Amino acid sequence: MAQATQLVPQEFSDGAVFDTVIIGAGPAGLFATYYSGFREMKTVVLDALPEPGGQLAVLYPEKTVFDCPGFPQILARDLVTSLVEQAKRYAPTFLLGERADDLRKGEDGLFSIVTDKHVLKTKSVIITAGVGSFSPNKLDIKNQEIYEGNGIYYFVKQKEFFRGKNLLIVGGGDSAVDWALNLKEVVKSIVLIHRRDQFRAHEQSVKELYNSPGITVRTFTELKQVDGDGTTLKSALIFENRSKKEEMIPVDCILINIGFKANLGPIANWGLAMENRAIKINGRMETNIPGVFAAGDIASPTESVKLNLIATGFAQAALAVNVAKKYVDPKAQLFPGHSSEKSA
Ligand SMILES: Cc1cc2nc3c(=O)[nH]c(=O)nc-3n(C[C@H](O)[C@H](O)[C@H](O)COP(=O)(O)OP(=O)(O)OC[C@H]3O[C@@H](n4cnc5c(N)ncnc54)[C@H](O)[C@@H]3O)c2cc1C
Repeated sequence: MAQATQLVPQEFSDGAVFDTVIIGAGPAGLFATYYSGFREMKTVVLDALPEPGGQLAVLYPEKTVFDCPGFPQILARDLVTSLVEQAKRYAPTFLLGERADDLRKGEDGLFSIVTDKHVLKTKSVIITAGVGSFSPNKLDIKNQEIYEGNGIYYFVKQKEFFRGKNLLIVGGGDSAVDWALNLKEVVKSIVLIHRRDQFRAHEQSVKELYNSPGITVRTFTELKQVDGDGTTLKSALIFENRSKKEEMIPVDCILINIGFKANLGPIANWGLAMENRAIKINGRMETNIPGVFAAGDIASPTESVKLNLIATGFAQAALAVNVAKKYVDPKAQLFPGHSSEKSA
């Protein structure tokens, strides 16, 4: 997995009591991490994935984001790098590759976040776990297990990796179509197969797909089998699903973009009030458990609309941290003051 940025390993002591533990290092969690440092809160941010960035780092690192305030356009990967840089300002503890499995509240009012490596004691918790941990949908094709990660891929980490390759893309949604358009200048050839003739991707993108001379689009077509010499993928057996006619085509790489399964995992069992697989929050980002807050895609506001956007997550993160600060230290101001008025 490509590193969005290098993180300096942090010393971690099991006996520490934190002001807040932030669960999930996607954009909402990273901005919450900056903000809690700004509010002088002793902070841990943890993520089940080995790198920060959430959906941006895993699902679309090389896509351009156009609706992030302050950046007319920015690659998702570069946005993550900046967010991590900002989050590190007040030296929080990053625990990556560590999943929060349990949340308990003790008699002393402190929360325990239990991971597979630590029990983190904290005065408050901010859940920014997005859609949970996610895994790509897979096909049931012959020889898949031999070439997975070595010819068969589910994510594009670096476009350059595909340079000069004969690429087969499977799927008809935005990811499949966008990657075909994004990779067409880099690869030697692209065949995109889709099991129907209706695409879920944006109309404009589908139009561009059909008008791209370097891309062959085959509808009503599915992948049946892959073959190679045991280490290198060499061909794919595809078939027309109405006539059942099969064809072997030479390929170096296959990109399977047929969606992903999101799994909230243990969070659903923490006693939090949920709605449509998201945690209910009020206008103060409070969940039904006092001291536990939520922001970003995982949050379902009962007093406002739910919009799964990076910008929404940033605003909710700032609100959650400021309300958490007041929860941890009732004498503190809710209003944080302006960062521009603080000394560097
Ligand atoms: C293809 C695509 C393109 C998009 N383009 C845009 C766009 O252009 N503009 C825009 O505003 N939005 C866009 N979005 C939506 C945007 O990515 C999300 O709204 C945003 O990522 C939500 O941020 P988040 O921090 O709430 O959650 P996420 O990014 O999902 O991050 C949550 C993190 O929490 C971690 N986690 C989950 N459970 C646990 C656990 N138990 N323990 C530890 N860690 C855990 C996950 O591993 C993950 O890293 C796009 C989404 C997709 C899929």
